[in-house]
Amino acid sequence: MGLEEHLPGDFLLTTVEKMAGLARQSSMWPMTFGLACCGMELMAVGDPRHDFARFGMERASATPRQADLMIVAGRVSQKMAPVLRRLYDQMAGPKWVIAMGVCASSGGMFNNYAVVQGVDHIVPVDVYLPGCPPRPEMLLDAIVKLHDQVRNTKLGAHRQAEIAAEEKARL
Ligand code: SF4
Repeated sequence: MGLEEHLPGDFLLTTVEKMAGLARQSSMWPMTFGLACCGMELMAVGDPRHDFARFGMERASATPRQADLMIVAGRVSQKMAPVLRRLYDQMAGPKWVIAMGVCASSGGMFNNYAVVQGVDHIVPVDVYLPGCPPRPEMLLDAIVKLHDQVRNTKLGAHRQAEIAAEEKARL
């Protein structure tokens, strides 16, 4: 006979790890960070039709110190790269990054000296979102996938993955 059968009905048994994952997933605050045309689609996820408030994300942060999620929306110029890295470093951990659109993911059509050929050269990326630009529904799908990752990540594992990604980027 399991322990649950001896407990009153309003009891819930879980682990600290699962509770932490659920709390992190349900209170993820994105930083306002539109870099180019993808930024227009990023803004659209906050409208009543797409409504990312239902994921607890309506509080878009204007400061990196109160943000958990950086959505890199658009191509990253070489000039912007150190600024982006600085903002990422100012975010408190654990923190996550979505590369929104083909330009942020790989440089896209801007295969030239002025544009970073993928933001993962600068910061570790958790979800790559294709498209030019991706529609708001696609961004919501990427957010849901990220939430799944966050909910199922063991405590401390995300930081180790960040360190590994940074070492790879340095090579
Ligand atoms: Fe603009 Fe397309 Fe690049 Fe997004 S992926 S920044 S829409 S060119």
